[in-house]
Amino acid sequence: MKTVLIVEDSKFFGMTIKNKIETKTKFNVVWVQNITEAIKVLSEVDEDFFAGILDFNLPDAPKGEIIDEVIKRDIPAIVFTGSVSKEIRESVWSKKVVDYVIKDAPQSLDYIINMLNRIEKNANIKVLIVDDVAFYRKALSNLLEIHRYQVFNASNGKEALDILEEHPDMKLVITDFNMPEMDGFVLTQKIREKYSRDDLAVIGISSEGENVMAARFLKIGANDFITKQTFLTEEFYCRVTQNIENLERIHLIREASIKDALTGLYNRRYFFETGNKLFANAIRENLTITCGMIDIDHFKNVNDTYGHEAGDKTLVHISSILNHRMRNTDIVARLGGEEFCVLAINMRKEYAKKVFEELRVKVEKSSIEIEDEGKIHITVSMGVVTELADSLEDMVKKADKLLYEAKESGRNRVITSGN
Ligand code: GH3
Ligand code: MG
Ligand code: MG
Repeated sequence: MKTVLIVEDSKFFGMTIKNKIETKTKFNVVWVQNITEAIKVLSEVDEDFFAGILDFNLPDAPKGEIIDEVIKRDIPAIVFTGSVSKEIRESVWSKKVVDYVIKDAPQSLDYIINMLNRIEKNANIKVLIVDDVAFYRKALSNLLEIHRYQVFNASNGKEALDILEEHPDMKLVITDFNMPEMDGFVLTQKIREKYSRDDLAVIGISSEGENVMAARFLKIGANDFITKQTFLTEEFYCRVTQNIENLERIHLIREASIKDALTGLYNRRYFFETGNKLFANAIRENLTITCGMIDIDHFKNVNDTYGHEAGDKTLVHISSILNHRMRNTDIVARLGGEEFCVLAINMRKEYAKKVFEELRVKVEKSSIEIEDEGKIHITVSMGVVTELADSLEDMVKKADKLLYEAKESGRNRVITSGN
């Protein structure tokens, strides 16, 4: 578990931040009230602090000395201050902090919580800096590393495209305009041929061309623009964070539109949209496709006897069994109510029979813990089609028919086409 160090002399503020972090995040907190205790904790406690939340003005360190103590141990520092004069602001940024927060602003605690979560997430976020001048690359890398991003560097467009190829999960490219061979516009255009704005953000950066440069970068496909040399650290971080958070929001919306909220399985819409593509591809490439419909037996009884919540838990339980057994390339979907469908590509016929039978047995042998009731058991019936039909819809219909037969002939069984 990660631990946050708070150094704050005010009992009220210290206690309030500590409580908020402990209730709103999964981080531990160590809170001390002055620099002497802080140094003791930093050097004596066998703990790698994940971040420090530091009061700029402590009784025994009135000028932000605590920041140096924390930064020199490579711990990200968020500074808490009562007031921000120009002098304090410049002093704080020159010490390479993650951010500073003004104490009496009502949202400041939420801001700190967001920032802690941000730093944690950033460790998995890849950012690429493209600039032909090593000095500028280094300056931006340093800033990004303070926020704990995974930073990659390229000194020209070609190198940048190679790195992107190698890291398709790159989230942000910050590119200079003026570079030999391929300028920032051409690079941005090339990036946009392959990566959409919804998956990868591009920020242009240049000291040339004034505001026309910004407009041209944006028109060509960049998400944002920063003016080289004159930007403030604060502005840089705000723009980077905003772009990353936009991508995260798009990702969440996308997930919500293709997945079922209760079970996390794909929904009906995704099943048919993506399934149809797989189906067309399978026909072209002469691959086999297996379609299995799965329905819980007497599920209504679970709801009627133990309540809707128990029913939901049962659905989640079945989903997890299905998801674990199938490959990543297969589609496992909840088509509706208590009805699931699995689409598996290139699964041998004999093997398909075996897989679905194993699933049936796995469900039969498993149990679901229901509060105050103990363990309950359920079974599933399945209809499995292994021959290609004219369309995916046809395959689903055929599988549904076999499922009906399985129900009619006693439930808790798998009926596979052609036997
Ligand atoms: P059979 O063995 O013939 O499949 O019988 P069954 O009871 O499983 O099938 P039936 O179609 O009669 O009932 C399905 C039930 O599933 C009725 C419905 O209330 C319940 N159900 C559908 N969606 C949900 C859900 O999201 N949560 C819960 N708890 N129940 C659901
Ligand atoms: Mg103080
Ligand atoms: Mg049912």
